[in-house]
Amino acid sequence: MSGLIMSPTTGVVVTGGGSGIGRACARALAEAERPVSLWDLNDEEAAKAAASIAADCGVVTHSVSVDVTDGDAVAHAVTAAREALGSIGGLVHAAGIVTAVDIDHLTEEIWDSVLGVNLRAQVFTVKALLEDLRRHEKSAIVGIGSIMSVVGNAMIPSYTSSKHGVVGLTKSLANHLGADGIRVNAVCPGYIHTPMMAAVMDDPPSRAALEAKTPLGRVGTPEDIAKAVRFLMSDQADYITGTTLIVDGGVTSHD
Ligand code: NDP
Repeated sequence: MSGLIMSPTTGVVVTGGGSGIGRACARALAEAERPVSLWDLNDEEAAKAAASIAADCGVVTHSVSVDVTDGDAVAHAVTAAREALGSIGGLVHAAGIVTAVDIDHLTEEIWDSVLGVNLRAQVFTVKALLEDLRRHEKSAIVGIGSIMSVVGNAMIPSYTSSKHGVVGLTKSLANHLGADGIRVNAVCPGYIHTPMMAAVMDDPPSRAALEAKTPLGRVGTPEDIAKAVRFLMSDQADYITGTTLIVDGGVTSHD
């Protein structure tokens, strides 16, 4: 696998690494021989995932319980990950939440919590990792956006805004960090079968409706997204920065 992927050998922090897309990204990066640190609120699942990845891929893995919206917790996690992995040259921000309420029912608390995890946490996690990312060659960052980075949904104004924000943040960081050789990109998943989407995916009519909207005729897997993330983190993407890669089976290709 590593021969094909040609990755740097530095460690990668994966937020949300205990579940769904984050966990698949951590495994895909480990398959390319990168040490990985799985950060998650759900420390039990993150520890289980890290142990399973270590057993299967033979790389150093680490997990830590962290609320990525808490600056002190992030600072502690950076120190722990640096010690465990030996180096940190990458970040995948996959921690995310969604709360389905339209503008009539939106509260300041919901807005702040969704923006806090999906967008603000990426900003301040990058900031906490800057020294490490700058210290190593070929560092890269991937933020997980969504098809809601490019279209809107009436039921999730806070989520839609946070995911549009990820695209803007990607471009701004790419501009600033290019001089340091740090690439910054976003991957925007379509409908992916993860715990976040379990209620919809496990309801046959709802799932069929999603499949009908998807030109490739199926919902996505976390591995579909992880492959794209691994590509953007690898040397094969070494002239790609500031971009948004939509991985949605074609959902946003039609009205
Ligand atoms: P999951 O719910 O499976 O995984 C998200 C993980 O992030 C969970 O383990 C969750 O922990 C963790 N998390 C939530 N808040 C925090 C926090 N404050 N600090 C640390 N960890 C936190 O979701 P997905 O894998 O589906 O989502 C991953 C990303 O992909 C998200 O950004 C999501 O918006 C995005 N995405 C997902 C799509 C999909 O169809 N699934 C489509 C488009 C984008 P806990 O479970 O304890 O809350």
